[in-house]
Amino acid sequence: MVKKCIICNKKLNKILKYDKFNLDIGHCDKCNLYQILGEDKFIKNKYESYYNNEFWHSSRSKGNFLFELKRKSINFLVHFARKLNISPLMTISQHNLFKKFLKGKKILEVGAGHGHTLRFFKTKKMIIRAIEPDYKKTKEINKYFHKNICSSLDVELDEVEGKYDLIYLSHVFEHFVNPLKLLEKIKKNFTKEGIIFIEVPNCENKEMLESSLKGQLHTFHFSLESLNKLFEKANYKILLSGVYDDTYKSILGRIFKNIFMSNNYSIHSKKNGKKLILIGKPI
Ligand SMILES: [Zn+2]
Repeated sequence: MVKKCIICNKKLNKILKYDKFNLDIGHCDKCNLYQILGEDKFIKNKYESYYNNEFWHSSRSKGNFLFELKRKSINFLVHFARKLNISPLMTISQHNLFKKFLKGKKILEVGAGHGHTLRFFKTKKMIIRAIEPDYKKTKEINKYFHKNICSSLDVELDEVEGKYDLIYLSHVFEHFVNPLKLLEKIKKNFTKEGIIFIEVPNCENKEMLESSLKGQLHTFHFSLESLNKLFEKANYKILLSGVYDDTYKSILGRIFKNIFMSNNYSIHSKKNGKKLILIGKPI
């Protein structure tokens, strides 16, 4: 089993046991990166069995009563907001960060889920395209837009067509088997001024590392340092990178921000912020 850091190739010296999936997690002190140890093929197989068997049943771990109540209330409100076609506050906030770097209208979302983000980008008059590995969700998205804008592909294995002004990945990048190879591969898919937007959990925050290890299957648990180093290694220029979190955390505060379609992200410290954001472009 390979036990080397994907960024610096250093032999990984600290092994944690992955409670939920029983996988070995290594830590590179030099890059401050946690990653699953093993060959790409081994990790790919784990993902396949996870999505085929466990994902829909176990991706949301159960907590105590109050936690569950809060989670259910938030889920209910989110579901209600989506029905009313209210844009996700997360996407509004992300858009606020990348809009000043964006030089065109063509966007590719990798990992589009139910397509709520695409609906927001459409309201901003962007030309939307998407990749979503789940075939059912792909059909759902194409039906909603009355157009084949979404392809059911595995972005790591399949060929990606077209050139884009923005390739957007929100909470997707940490699931890739080999993000370094992916960053190399998609370089041909950027327009001359094209940029990439990434948001991943900030695993320098202990609470986020814990949920990244015990929630869904993640190959990588990034820190700001490791995310920057990975993009530098792949020969990308970093236009913006930082630790962010919601300014308003209460439900009422978030509703207020959502009504006015205003940014809810602000810069936080490495230990406290929950989100890592990177905007870059190939060199
Ligand atoms: Zn390293």
